[in-house]
Amino acid sequence: MSSSFSSAEGQQRFVVARELFETYATYRMTEIVSRRFTQADMLRWLESFRSMNLLTTIPLGQSAEGRTISLLRLGTGSVKVFLWSQMHGDEPTATMALLDMLNFFARARDHVVSRTILDALSLLIIPMVNPDGAERFQRRTAQSIDMNRDALTLGTPEAHILKETRDTYQPHFGFNLHDQDPRYTVGNSKNVCAVALLAPAFDESRSDNDIRVAAKEVASTFASVLQEFIPGHVSKYDETFEPRAFGDNVQKWGTSTVLVESGGWPGDREKMFVRKLNYVGLLTSLHAIATGTYQQADLAAYEGLPLSTKYLYDVILRNAQLKANDQVSAVRVDIGINLDEELNMQNGRVELVGKIVDIGDLSIFGAFQEVDVRDALLSGSEIKMDQRITAERVQALLIKP
Ligand SMILES: [Zn+2]
Repeated sequence: MSSSFSSAEGQQRFVVARELFETYATYRMTEIVSRRFTQADMLRWLESFRSMNLLTTIPLGQSAEGRTISLLRLGTGSVKVFLWSQMHGDEPTATMALLDMLNFFARARDHVVSRTILDALSLLIIPMVNPDGAERFQRRTAQSIDMNRDALTLGTPEAHILKETRDTYQPHFGFNLHDQDPRYTVGNSKNVCAVALLAPAFDESRSDNDIRVAAKEVASTFASVLQEFIPGHVSKYDETFEPRAFGDNVQKWGTSTVLVESGGWPGDREKMFVRKLNYVGLLTSLHAIATGTYQQADLAAYEGLPLSTKYLYDVILRNAQLKANDQVSAVRVDIGINLDEELNMQNGRVELVGKIVDIGDLSIFGAFQEVDVRDALLSGSEIKMDQRITAERVQALLIKP
C-alpha cells in the first residue's frame, strides 16, 4: 500500500520503520528463544537493564498466587503511553517484543528514535499482566477467570491492578497486546493474518469521538508500516463491542487504545517473525505519537483493512480417495488437519498432536502446509472427524502420499 506513503510524513515513517526492521538482529534479546517462558524468566531478562538507569520498576500488587506485578516506567515526556501485555498467559509474543524494545532503548540511547520517544513520551509498561497464567501457559488466571471479561467486575486481583493503573496515570494512549489463533486469515483470502489491529468500540453503535479517532490514527500508522513488510497480511479484528473487555473499556475511560493481536506466519510456530513485526510496529507507532505525525495518517490504512476470518488449517491433504467403510465407495476429498501443542504427561514435554478437523471440498481454505496426494487411498479407520493423528504420521502423509 505505497499510497499511504505518498506524503512526506509517510516517507519519513517508512525510513524509520525500514531501519528498525533491518537492524532488529542487533537489538533483539537473544536470550529469548521460545515463547514458553515464565515471569521468573522475564524478571531475569529485565535484570540486564538494572545497572543501566533505563527504567523505574513500580510494584503494583500481587497476582492471585502472590506473584508481584510491576509497572516499568521510562521516558520523561508529558504524553503518557500505557502498554500492557499477556493478560492471557499463553499470549506472549508482544511481551518478547516489549523486551526487545527495552533493549533497543538501552543499547541505542543516542539513536534519534530513542531520544525522540523518550523525550516526548512517558512509557508505562506492564509486560506480563497475568503471570499465573503464564506459569501454566494458559489463557485464564489462576482463578480460572478470563480477565479480559473482568474489566467491570474486577473480581481478579490482576484486573483490579490493570484498572487501577489506568486510573492512576490517565494515559493518553494505550496498547492492549494479545495473540490470536495463528490460523486467522485476512478477509476471504487465504493469506494468513500476521497481525490484526483494532481501535475498539466504546459503545454498541461503535461511535467515534476524539479518543477513538486518535486510536484509529495510531492503528493506521501501525497498519501502513506493516503493509510495507507483509502486504496483504494485516487485518482488522472483530469490532463488536464487548462490554466486559479491557480494550473497549479503556477506550471508554478516555485512553486512545489500540488492540494488537499477533497472529501466525508460515514456518513460525514460535512466532519469532511476528515478534519482530510487533517490535517494528510498536516503535514506529510510538515515534509517530512522539512527533505528533500519527495525526496525518491516512485513516483508510486502518478502516480499509479486511476483517479477520478463519480460512486456514495447519495441513491440507488435497485429492485423497477416502474409503470410509466397507459399505460405501471411495470418494475424492480434501482433508484438513490441525496440529496443536499438548503436554505429554509421561515425559513432561510439549508435543504436537494432530487432529482431523475437516473432510470434503476444502477449496476455499488455505493451509500452512498442503500437498496434492493424487488419489491416494486412505481408510475411514484413520481418516474421520476429530480423529487424533500423530505429527509423524501427518508428515509421512505430506511427504509420501
Ligand atoms: Zn488475548
